[in-house]
Amino acid sequence: MQLIKTIKKMKDISCYLKKKEFSLGFVPTMGYLHEGHSSLAARSKKQCDITVLSIFVNPAQFGPGEDYEKYPRDLERDKRIAKEAGVDYIFYPSAEEMYGSRYGTFITVKGLGDIMCGKFRPGHFDGVSTVVAKLLNIVSPDKAYFGQKDYQQTIIIRKMVSDLNLKPEIIVCPIVREPDGLAMSSRNKYLNPNERKNATILYRSLEEAAANIKLAWKYLDGNIKPAGTKTSGINLNEIKKRATDRLLENEVVSEVDYFEIRNAENLEEIKDLDVFYSDNPKAGIVIASAIRMGGTRLIDNMII
Ligand code: AMP
Repeated sequence: MQLIKTIKKMKDISCYLKKKEFSLGFVPTMGYLHEGHSSLAARSKKQCDITVLSIFVNPAQFGPGEDYEKYPRDLERDKRIAKEAGVDYIFYPSAEEMYGSRYGTFITVKGLGDIMCGKFRPGHFDGVSTVVAKLLNIVSPDKAYFGQKDYQQTIIIRKMVSDLNLKPEIIVCPIVREPDGLAMSSRNKYLNPNERKNATILYRSLEEAAANIKLAWKYLDGNIKPAGTKTSGINLNEIKKRATDRLLENEVVSEVDYFEIRNAENLEEIKDLDVFYSDNPKAGIVIASAIRMGGTRLIDNMII
């Protein structure tokens, strides 16, 4: 496994691999790797000849007062984990290498970056789209791997890749969870033992909402009722309110940024399940939430 620090070297390697007709899989990360990241690398390894994993804590996606400075960083640990996961190259540029001193171009994916997480982290998704576009240009992979954990991000990246006619196929991998259900995240390191113990409330609240929706839809054995059939009058606002109240009752949840139920394909809000399913008989639903525990922001989602 090789560590690459410059854009030029990374581009040269990618070019060389292309000439040799190797297929290239790419896993962009901010480091402090865990099994969620390893699962993306493992998928890439299965599908591609060569796997490149980037580690870059992207300043452009952090707002003022967010955790850019204190975001966990440990290159030696990351190298070990990446090697175990079968990564061939780690691309590890500095902020100076990526943005220089007079950087000026940003990508906005309209209509998707200012809802859900974007409402609470203005500019965040412009930073994400921009860095992902740059990384895709530098690494030039055939396939790029993202986690469902950051669901809104996957929809935004897919839209950007399609709108800008970028090359790679975008592959979204399932959320890897701790045994108690908490979605793995580098930020879980911030949680104190009591917060960590309580953090599963987020997963449980999503599960409960999903169960209520499935029940109302008599979604049995994976078969959704045919279009035109009515729900038992399920009120999505009530489900959202019940989940939010339950989260806020928890002793360590300080804020619920949002708890939302949206069209899994385009993130449009769903107001009425009957209308939704008669208009989109095959579409999925995403239930997504972001909460704060003390200074830590946790996100999670579930697709049904
Ligand atoms: P990050 O380093 O947090 O920016 O994440 C890098 C990539 O890993 C993103 O595509 C994330 O969605 C993905 N990822 C993070 N946590 C998980 C997880 N628990 N399961 C699956 N993928 C994840």
